[in-house]
Amino acid sequence: MAFTQGICDVCDRDREIGVASLPFAPMSVAFCRECLTQRAYPLWSLLGLIDMCGGPDEVAAWVHDCKAFKAGVYIEWEAIVRLHQAEPPVSGN
Ligand SMILES: [Zn+2]
Repeated sequence: MAFTQGICDVCDRDREIGVASLPFAPMSVAFCRECLTQRAYPLWSLLGLIDMCGGPDEVAAWVHDCKAFKAGVYIEWEAIVRLHQAEPPVSGN
């Protein structure tokens, strides 16, 4: 993850309009207007949330309405879960 001042941390393409906290993690990132409208969050944060919760079925239902941004398009929960299954995190154990 790289943070670039003035650029949206979700899509890494548009200018940010502000910084806000993630609703599911104690950190803040920059958002552009489109990502806020899409209710999109950084992909890494949603993948990390799935890890922290112990799997996609353990994540609160309201998060399933959130999106992420990958390869130029907004992706929905089902696609985020598929990415998580395809690229499991490196275990700290
Ligand atoms: Zn954005």
